[in-house]
Amino acid sequence: MTETLETLSSAEIIAKAKAHLTGNYTRFPVALVRGEGSHVWDAEGNRYLDFFPGWGCGILGHCPPRVVEAVRDQVGTLIHVPNSWYTEPQAVLGELLAERTGWGGQVFFCNSGTEANEAAIKLARLNGAARGKYKIVTFTDSFHGRTMGSLSATAQPKYHAGVGPMLPGFVYAPYGDLDALTKLIDAETCAVMIEPIQGEGGVNIPPPGFLEGLRALCDAHGMLLIFDEVQTGMGRTGKWYAHQHWNLVPDIVTLAKALAGGIALGGLVARNEVAAYLKPGTHAATFGGNPVAARAGIATVETIDDENLLERAHQVGERFRVRLTEVMAKCSLVTELRIMGAMIGVQLAVEGAPIVGKCLERRLLVNCTHGTVLRLLPAINLTDDLIDEGCDILAEVLIAHEADAK
Ligand SMILES: *Cc1c(COP(=O)(O)O)cnc(C)c1O
Repeated sequence: MTETLETLSSAEIIAKAKAHLTGNYTRFPVALVRGEGSHVWDAEGNRYLDFFPGWGCGILGHCPPRVVEAVRDQVGTLIHVPNSWYTEPQAVLGELLAERTGWGGQVFFCNSGTEANEAAIKLARLNGAARGKYKIVTFTDSFHGRTMGSLSATAQPKYHAGVGPMLPGFVYAPYGDLDALTKLIDAETCAVMIEPIQGEGGVNIPPPGFLEGLRALCDAHGMLLIFDEVQTGMGRTGKWYAHQHWNLVPDIVTLAKALAGGIALGGLVARNEVAAYLKPGTHAATFGGNPVAARAGIATVETIDDENLLERAHQVGERFRVRLTEVMAKCSLVTELRIMGAMIGVQLAVEGAPIVGKCLERRLLVNCTHGTVLRLLPAINLTDDLIDEGCDILAEVLIAHEADAK
């Protein structure tokens, strides 16, 4: 292992970062240097248990061995060639992703979630152009990314502040309300775009019948149904794609976060007739689906298959459910659990940020989203012992926080 970068203390790294990096992130005062499985280490050698590895990208934990091996091999063979050539890793990964939808499809690769959604927006408009359709309906509390198209799709005013005007053509519907949505559709609407389970918006599981209702509306009005599975895809919820929990076929599915086990990769899968509109010249990404990222993606898919991790993701979620239900019985700060596989939302009656800080002091890494929701996106190969260890810490922190407040 190379030690070349591990010469600075946390304090020195933080000071350098504050001097030279933009201030657009709220960062914890910790500099991480190494990761393995569900643990990371800081520059002083302290170990942390990570229930939020890589913001959901670390679906196999940190430095999963097969991904590391694949990247090491590929990086010495062929790092990058543009998409004016064919490469085996990209073709093979495309096949693996399309096979796993159950409805086939064709794959376009890019490098991030927001880029995947930009591609979906363009593809939806390309499909609708001849019929004068360009509007896209999205939902309150959605999150689709930070570039201007995906940001315009993100129906949360706080993310639009100061950077308007937004891209025209986005229509925001109240989440879960089919009647309200129906009233917002017109002849110019080309697509409905939704996270099958909202992530950043607080781990919101759709009400029964809602996604099926969207499919029926899209069919009735000649609109495409786009699922943003950047957070929910790649086994996170116990299925390859979260939409497979419902009996429906979408038109476009976007992916990123966990797609390559922690290496940057984004993409979309579209039904063949829909994908056909991506003709030469309509869209591109220079680094999209490069051999290194694609090999990492293949290694991720193969690990999930060989280690039966879709089933394990389900078990992980159910163990969290049992342990967190015990916490709920002892602590009135927890008011609801929203769990689907290893996508876990813990609704609190109070602000979550202090809880995250107190967990950090106990060297447990968790996330808070939407103000009052603790969000856990653990590795789907996490052991029961580590789930128990982390849940014990979380329980102690929550119970102490409730006592302090009294
Ligand atoms: C994280 C996320 C994005 C944005 O992904 P980036 O890789 O940060 O651009 C888009 N949609 C959803 C649902 C996400 O969770």
